[in-house]
Amino acid sequence: MARLTEEVGEMAREVNHYHGEKPKKLSERENTIEDEMGDIIFVLACFANSLNIDLSESFHIAMHKIETRDKNRWTPKD
Ligand SMILES: [Mg+2]
Repeated sequence: MARLTEEVGEMAREVNHYHGEKPKKLSERENTIEDEMGDIIFVLACFANSLNIDLSESFHIAMHKIETRDKNRWTPKD
């Protein structure tokens, strides 16, 4: 959980650099939001494996909920 939180924090930092009010210092490493999203997916997959959770099934459950219970929360794109 700590690793996942750390990676989410790193992504938040990147979002803030590129879309927020805190530009990068020249001395800072050039990470990207894309890289940090990849890190989050990796850590999440490790976490799921350690708990014997099928992440594909978790995603299926979430998508079913979004498409049924939450179906009126979203505006579909044309
Ligand atoms: Mg990272």
